[in-house]
Amino acid sequence: MVEIKELVMLFDFDKTIIECDSDDWVIQNLGFTELFNTLLPTMPYNSLMDRIMGELHSQGTTIQDIAEWLIKVPLSPNITHAIKSAYASGCDLRIVSNANTFFIETILKHNGVLHCFSEINTNPVSIEEDGRLKILPYHDFNSSSHGCNLCPPNLCKGLVLRRIQASSVKKRFVYVGDGKNDYCPSLKLTTIDYVMPRKHLPLWDAICSDPTLISASIHEWEDANELGRMLINLISILMMKPNHDLAFEDYVSGDCKSSYDSAHGSS
Ligand SMILES: [Mg+2]
Ligand SMILES: [Zn+2]
Repeated sequence: MVEIKELVMLFDFDKTIIECDSDDWVIQNLGFTELFNTLLPTMPYNSLMDRIMGELHSQGTTIQDIAEWLIKVPLSPNITHAIKSAYASGCDLRIVSNANTFFIETILKHNGVLHCFSEINTNPVSIEEDGRLKILPYHDFNSSSHGCNLCPPNLCKGLVLRRIQASSVKKRFVYVGDGKNDYCPSLKLTTIDYVMPRKHLPLWDAICSDPTLISASIHEWEDANELGRMLINLISILMMKPNHDLAFEDYVSGDCKSSYDSAHGSS
């Protein structure tokens, strides 16, 4: 058996670390929901978010105004506590998100946990001379496609996971997410890894539709309380015994379990 050297916690951001979706939060609070909904069928999501930033700017909303809304995004103390504990225990914490660097860094910094993350993989931003926030795609899909048909053109989270997996050090992953675009990386996890889908949301639905496709063990959660508690538990066990094979009976509960049991031959 190869010795596991590192525990990597890879987090989605919206509806995982924070309770809401940061794009929705900004659009709703600044009154752009109607325009967003009108334009949504006409362009890729990532281009639409950039377009909305352009509209905000042309109507006099500054980056400071956006930041003032971002720092009001609710982030559960259970989650910040789990993040700080994981960081203090020596876990490698990273984010992979379809939001953008400005939104994520502003929120994490305000909550005092930005320094806990070694990497934030998301859509980059730039600030133009006139103060307009530009949101760019993570993968430049105009020059070439990332080739994954499960993911939106601007970001394949599975490719990000593959890159981290490819390092020479043996890593065990804990992947936490809720969305449809968290399914691609979940499929790429191995038997020593853990996937933690948020119950009743699209990642969980996709996993439950055929758990045999998932090699990692599945640990579902419902809210920030439960996720915080489960992460603290996992960290304490896995950091003490890096090669421990955690019995899924200890953790896995609920609706996905019966299909997981039959798929993996457990009783
Ligand atoms: Mg999400
Ligand atoms: Zn993908």
